[in-house]
Amino acid sequence: MWPDHSLTIAVEGDRRVVKSNDLPDHATGIFPISSSDLAFAYDRNPNSIIAQKIVLSMPTNPKIAAEPSCLPMGLISVALTGVSIFNGLDAQGRDAAAHEVQDSCNGHPERQGAYHYHNMSPCMKDGGGKQGKHSDLAGYAADGFGIYGQFGEGGKSLSNKDLDACHGHMHLLTWNGVPQEIYHYHLTKEYPYTLGCFRGEVSGNKSVLPAKKDGPWAGAGPESHRLVLEKAAQELGVDQDKLRRAIGAPPPNFARAAQQLGIDESKIRAAFDKARR
Ligand SMILES: [Zn+2]
Ligand SMILES: [Zn+2]
Repeated sequence: MWPDHSLTIAVEGDRRVVKSNDLPDHATGIFPISSSDLAFAYDRNPNSIIAQKIVLSMPTNPKIAAEPSCLPMGLISVALTGVSIFNGLDAQGRDAAAHEVQDSCNGHPERQGAYHYHNMSPCMKDGGGKQGKHSDLAGYAADGFGIYGQFGEGGKSLSNKDLDACHGHMHLLTWNGVPQEIYHYHLTKEYPYTLGCFRGEVSGNKSVLPAKKDGPWAGAGPESHRLVLEKAAQELGVDQDKLRRAIGAPPPNFARAAQQLGIDESKIRAAFDKARR
């Protein structure tokens, strides 16, 4: 257990300030992974879990932005367990939950020792699903919108097709103690598991900066990302999912994609240029 776990959530004016030292309110696996551990054969995570200083300040009444924005690598939200939630990709741009060894709470530390989830954790408390209940709040996204467990209205288990590209939807929910129509995200069992993009404004939040606006994603919302990917994949004659994973979260990693796909980097760049037109 982590007796030094510390999480505070305070409302200051029209901002909600979440402070966490990133140590969970639940037990974790033992990191670094010991050489006697079966998992060592797959993933020699050499990192220890170290307390962090996470401060997220976001609007208590978040608004939907004119355009969704891309997720940065690393922290995109904080769970009510005190643990940071990273986007679905690992440092190599792969589906992290599928490629990295997580402990039984679906967490693990990164290079700086920050323990994090890439997907839903069985150690998050959720009363949803039973008696037709919507999931409980699981955390706050950096844009201020809530993140809930996998159960939607009527206790229905949600999948990606029930949600928009950012992994959320809108319906009546109690928010700030008041029942209202509000946008919110859901966790699901399939990639991207947590968020697909930010639906709200993340500016003014120093802890989480929006991804740089350059490369093939420039000025594009997630829907147009998909279109660009689809076209580029067609042009290159490769599987779209394979291309997405190879290229990674914005900013795109053309060099790595070239290596992974065995296609010339200039050809990949050209395909994206063409797809964007
Ligand atoms: Zn990770
Ligand atoms: Zn919902």
